[in-house]
Amino acid sequence: MLGAIEAGGTKFVCGVGTGPDDLIAATIPTVTPEITLPAVAEFFTRHGALEALGIGSFGPIDRAEGLIANTPKEAWRGCGIVAELMSRLQVPIAFDTDVNAAALGEARWGAGRGLRDFVYLTVGTGIGGGAVVNGSLVHGLVHPEMGHLMVPHDRVRDPFPGCCPYHGNCLEGLASGPALRARWGAPPESLPDDHPAWELEAHYLASGLASIAYVLAPQRFILGGGVIRQERLFSLIGGELTRLLSGYVQPGDVVAAGLGSRAGVLGALALAEMGI
Ligand code: ZN
Repeated sequence: MLGAIEAGGTKFVCGVGTGPDDLIAATIPTVTPEITLPAVAEFFTRHGALEALGIGSFGPIDRAEGLIANTPKEAWRGCGIVAELMSRLQVPIAFDTDVNAAALGEARWGAGRGLRDFVYLTVGTGIGGGAVVNGSLVHGLVHPEMGHLMVPHDRVRDPFPGCCPYHGNCLEGLASGPALRARWGAPPESLPDDHPAWELEAHYLASGLASIAYVLAPQRFILGGGVIRQERLFSLIGGELTRLLSGYVQPGDVVAAGLGSRAGVLGALALAEMGI
């Protein structure tokens, strides 16, 4: 039996099992490490011995040190989550970003099955991406931060300055859920399918995907996250991506995450499986 943790900014989704058809999951609120981690450990202890545990975490993270790094969530800054859970559970732990874990989950059970090169991008409270290249997750000096790509910003068409605390009008600053909410004065889930917000959203996301396509040439883009819930957005993004690439390269196809809202926790399970 394997364990999985999708460590998010508002909740930790914990699971035990072997795959999508065999998973017991529970949600524990993200408070402080002193409150949340003992509750997480208690969940796993209750469900019996684990062979391995995978953690897909909000970031940035220091993967080598097993730390949550320079996060705006102060209580979690520098938290040695891997050492803490290892001492409580005595189990091997595989640790990566939430989006890298989700990409791995899509590769194992979702829309990335059978592909050697694809990119998973989540668009929600933030924007983040995980890349599988030649069958392996990409890691670098830190980890990819595709949400902070700079994208062309026409301030006549869109005077909204962007909301990324680091860069203002990067992709996340212009196209995340909070950016939509701030620009249009309403939460994205309340904007109707024919609202002009979605054409602009498709334009920014396609601009980001075009840059990723030029660098990595993925066979497929897999999109997940709370903002990507409508069918129409996929056709808008696909059309805009083709237009932006101007026939110079063929873009990969753009599809929805196969694991839906369970991409994170199943990704962490795939991480545990791979770590064995
Ligand atoms: Zn940014």
